[in-house]
Amino acid sequence: MKPRLRFAPSPSGYLHIGGARTALFNWLWARSQGGTFVMRVEDTDQERSSIESVRAILDAFRWLGMDWDEGPEVGGPHGPYFQSERKPIYKELVEGLIREGKAYRCYCTKEELDRQREQLKARNPKAAFVYPGTCRDRTDQPDLPHVVRFKTPREGSTEFVDKVFGAISTPNAAQQDFVLVRTDGYPLYNLAATIDDHLMDITLVARARDHIGNTPQQLLLYRAFGWEPPEFAHLPMMLSPQGDKLSKRHTAVSVQEYRDRGFPPMGVLNYIVRFGWSFGDQEIFGKQQLIEAFGWDRVGKGDGKFDDKKFADVAFEHLKREDLTSLDEYASSVKPFLDARGLTDVPEAALKAAIPGIRERARTLVDAANDLDYYFREPPELDDKARQKFLTKEAAPRLEALAETLSTVEPFTADALEARAKHWAEQQGLSMKDFAQAARVALSGRSASPPLFDVMVVLGRERTLARLRRGAELAKS
Ligand code: GLU
Ligand code: ZN
Repeated sequence: MKPRLRFAPSPSGYLHIGGARTALFNWLWARSQGGTFVMRVEDTDQERSSIESVRAILDAFRWLGMDWDEGPEVGGPHGPYFQSERKPIYKELVEGLIREGKAYRCYCTKEELDRQREQLKARNPKAAFVYPGTCRDRTDQPDLPHVVRFKTPREGSTEFVDKVFGAISTPNAAQQDFVLVRTDGYPLYNLAATIDDHLMDITLVARARDHIGNTPQQLLLYRAFGWEPPEFAHLPMMLSPQGDKLSKRHTAVSVQEYRDRGFPPMGVLNYIVRFGWSFGDQEIFGKQQLIEAFGWDRVGKGDGKFDDKKFADVAFEHLKREDLTSLDEYASSVKPFLDARGLTDVPEAALKAAIPGIRERARTLVDAANDLDYYFREPPELDDKARQKFLTKEAAPRLEALAETLSTVEPFTADALEARAKHWAEQQGLSMKDFAQAARVALSGRSASPPLFDVMVVLGRERTLARLRRGAELAKS
């Protein structure tokens, strides 16, 4: 049977980078096996969930290039895929459990439970309060506010073999009669997730290990419903550099922030896949390679620590290498960043001609847009220091003469331009360094750029000559 996997976000914000890692493992396995990747929105908590957050999460998935086969927007045969639309399903199944004596209504009020908790605390400050089962054997069902609790077996234990953590056994006595449905009829996570994983035919649940403690409760529910449980794989955590829970205090944690910083999506996926998975010493993977290499046998238990610098290096590697980010992809990815600088109609061909000259150095697409700016801005922005240093009175006639001699170069290629410029310089008794920086500032407005003659080729003859002449004018004034 082809595996069916899922990612089940609670839409109360953005897509957290740790959530993206969890989604990635599920997605990779689905893609490598020809299986199905389901997106299920766990939005029963109306106060915390929002449609904007759902949108932000889906956008982040689209940007990362992780497509989902069933779920919001695409639908599928196991819908609805929003838990808020599945309440009647949970209700009916919970009523069945109550009828069969596997769950019960608990009428204890919050005040009563708080009082019991206080009493326990007074006796033993360290003890954890466990619901004493007051309503467990109640037979009446008055029409009063109540929660629904699971009647956890008092004997035996719940066992499973985790694909990452191995055999795990939890004595049932350690489990209290946990709440399935709140007073307001709101189904709690363990109930809704179990029912949905079953009804959506999920074969493997892979999620972060902070959920490992929920798994015994979910398994008790599978047993109570008489359902075959899926397999489980709990994944190590992505921690802060100090080893605590990774949060905004440490770094950017939303996927969107990395997009806005100009990281390429594969750079993000490549960095986060290493939290829990490794493949020998190989650090850098393209998407297809990753799909082919991924497997549960290489998923380890060790938590990882987030490292901004490492992340930035991996992202850069993806931008730099043409086998990882094709020229077409680079051009379309950098466009929004050029737009943001007001460069809204950049010709495609010139953009693609300019990119090879800058991609060796641009660590992000934000850098890339900055490095590409002068090719497309007319006139280029002029750096004051560069102007003062290099557009000197002495430089003016040189720039004019250089423009003159380059005006007739055929073809307008870097080699031909260089040969002509060298020849001209010799005749003048000059060397390259006597005019190269002035020419660079005239052409780019800056004192650093890719090789001069490459810049000229990207600019084309007309703009090269115009900029050299404009540089000469500026140098005179
Ligand atoms: N909505 C849960 C969460 O975001 C899903 C956990 C699970 O994968 O079962 O943590
Ligand atoms: Zn009770």
